[in-house]
Amino acid sequence: MTTILTNLITVLGLFIGSFLNVVIYRLPRRASLSMPPSHCTSCGRRLAWYENIPVLSWVALCGRCRTCKSRISLRYPVIELLTGLLFLTTALRFVPDLANAPTLADAVARGSVLIAALWFVAASIALAMIDLDTLTLPNRIIYPSAIVIGGLYLIATVSSMIGVASAGAGSAWNSALTALLGALIVGVLYLAIAFISPRGMGLGDVKYAALIGLALGWHGWPYIVLGLLLPFLIGGIVAAILLVTGRVRRKTGIPFGPAMALGAVVALEWGGSPASAYLPIWGPA
Ligand SMILES: [Zn+2]
Repeated sequence: MTTILTNLITVLGLFIGSFLNVVIYRLPRRASLSMPPSHCTSCGRRLAWYENIPVLSWVALCGRCRTCKSRISLRYPVIELLTGLLFLTTALRFVPDLANAPTLADAVARGSVLIAALWFVAASIALAMIDLDTLTLPNRIIYPSAIVIGGLYLIATVSSMIGVASAGAGSAWNSALTALLGALIVGVLYLAIAFISPRGMGLGDVKYAALIGLALGWHGWPYIVLGLLLPFLIGGIVAAILLVTGRVRRKTGIPFGPAMALGAVVALEWGGSPASAYLPIWGPA
């Protein structure tokens, strides 16, 4: 059961990655996500179903359009593979917990938390790539994500109360409260940073920070702390490398979204791993 579900989620991740490529390309251009159907961005020819299979199609076509022979960016299969791998790690992290659910209500609660994690990972990949391309974090991803993740946590809380036989209700309330506080605290901290350095941080970063606080908060304070600190560590290192190697000048903007996404996903996937227990402030996570 655990293995089947994990494999299914990984394959789903590859296809979601394929959809994320469409989102990353079309959303900043204000284009519809469904119309026109997938086509070659060079010659405009509509793609057949077998040209749309994640990763495999790109490999089979040797990274070129079948008719116009123009290059298909390596980025497409990389995004698909990355999404598949992150769905796999998310499944490895949350599916065992779901498989051990003592009652149906608990299974619904844990399933909701799993779906929220998958949604958050997918949204973070799209946000990171769009920020790299356009230096913006679109509301059209952040707002729906907040509603979906918040809604799933609400379902998880209510289900845990019904499945009270497993004594999960208290911890669910605690998780829901931490998620709300996480959104508030991380959002306010980023807002303060944005006020101090308006050039470095935009309102998009603040809103995404609140979403990260919400998503990680359910899992506990250690996740919030890790998700808050890691982006600055990652961003600092990357910015230093870019400035030293002269890849960017100080005036050109360096998007912070990718560092936030990477830090948050790392915190979500590995925040409660035994490694973090070595640090006394983490406590039993
Ligand atoms: Zn073409």
